[in-house]
Amino acid sequence: MKHLISVLTIVLVNFSPALKAQQGPEYSLKKEELEAHMRILASDELEGRRTGEQGNRVAARYIAEQFRRYGLSPVPGQKDYYQPVWFEKTLAEKKGVLTAGAERLEHEKDWILLSGEKTELTAPVVYAGYGLEDASKKWDDYKGLDVKGKIVVVQSGLPESQSPRESIATAGQKRKLAAEKGAVALVELYNASTPWNFIARFMAGERLGIAPENAAPSSLPHFWANGKEARVTRALRDAKQVTISNEGRSIRQVLSYNVAGYIEGSDPRLKDQYILLSAHYDHVGVGAQGGQPYTPEDSIFNGARDNAFGVTGMLAAAKSLAESKPKRSVLFVAFTGEELGLLGSRYYADLPLLPLSKCIFNLNSDGAGYNDTSVLAVIGLKRTGASKQIEEAAGAFGLGVVGDPAEEQNLFDRSDNVNFASKGIPAPTFSAGFRDFDTEIMKYYHQAIDNPETIDYDYLLRYSQAYTLAARLIANLADPPKWVAGDKYEQASKELYGY
Ligand SMILES: [Zn+2]
Repeated sequence: MKHLISVLTIVLVNFSPALKAQQGPEYSLKKEELEAHMRILASDELEGRRTGEQGNRVAARYIAEQFRRYGLSPVPGQKDYYQPVWFEKTLAEKKGVLTAGAERLEHEKDWILLSGEKTELTAPVVYAGYGLEDASKKWDDYKGLDVKGKIVVVQSGLPESQSPRESIATAGQKRKLAAEKGAVALVELYNASTPWNFIARFMAGERLGIAPENAAPSSLPHFWANGKEARVTRALRDAKQVTISNEGRSIRQVLSYNVAGYIEGSDPRLKDQYILLSAHYDHVGVGAQGGQPYTPEDSIFNGARDNAFGVTGMLAAAKSLAESKPKRSVLFVAFTGEELGLLGSRYYADLPLLPLSKCIFNLNSDGAGYNDTSVLAVIGLKRTGASKQIEEAAGAFGLGVVGDPAEEQNLFDRSDNVNFASKGIPAPTFSAGFRDFDTEIMKYYHQAIDNPETIDYDYLLRYSQAYTLAARLIANLADPPKWVAGDKYEQASKELYGY
């Protein structure tokens, strides 16, 4: 019944000529135009928009050219719509052998290479506990050992915990220390509960991260050996010397972009403040890159919901807000590298093109999926001081709002918005409607089937309209929205804005 009344209200509102004049261009967005954005961004030809690959860069180009078409300018002071972000791709190693005494230890089955280049060497072995020292040097696994020119063998993790998390977290520190002590290679005996086959595939596979600015990667060959296999442990601990012969993991720099466009606000007094509208456009790629099952018939992870859907909403806002400008300025940024761990947005938040202290709000558009097309889901709705505007915008297009669904998933801190929230900017994520992570969501979430043929385009239209109107209402507010008192990001906000 409630739904019927709201539908009726829309019909009345839409046909009232007096009100029509006040309505922004978002009321007359065309479903077909939004469908075209979706069908290009989530097309097979873009091959899952994996960060740093061709399909990802074509998607960036497409977004930039829509910005141009809709009349957005590059951010003041920038020559174009692109913020280059360099990533470092560490390729998988294909082969190698470690010979420990009489034992031949095989690549992948017995050991993997975490990092390091091609190596051919034979050296004595020294066993050094966990390969760590504490800052006060009360204990020091290297105490009394001369490891110069030698291969250091250690246990993975910490004495109190050998969990995979601990093993991964301490690996860098162990490599650094071994290199400082003059070792020629480091071998960790992996002992955590996670099965070797699983961890080996995960750690030895292709890896992407932000290229470190100046830190040259340590060239010390660093191995994990299967410490759960007595034959391997014995061979490495008892051998007088070990011979390493492997091809190494090569590193390539790959380029991707955040894409940024700008609309100057209409109010001379408020236009030096802005609202940030964002959506990530990268996805996970094709075949084995997707990390989920695929078939020869459908091996492309199109990422229609995740996140061509959110980008389409952002493009709809770009078009409508450029046509009829709100009081404050609007900055649009399409992020890359989200699927790698929110990397594009973190890069942007650390190197913003406009001062963050002038950014009053970030409305991030990110769709994991939907199972209820009568609502929107807004992560952080009640925390970020604009629930009234968001609910009003949703209601204008016949949608309800679910605030903070699936709280056990801690979604607020798992999307690009968190990189702005942690700087103090009120930053909810605007998502398509869902209440739980149920089977309908999981059917598509990061699956090859998340393709444009399965999208409800009437719903995409209303989502995009509501997103645009919410942005407009917030950008026109007399006073910027504020975090709810006591929120964990409130302190950062005070520091950022000084109020
Ligand atoms: Zn995703």
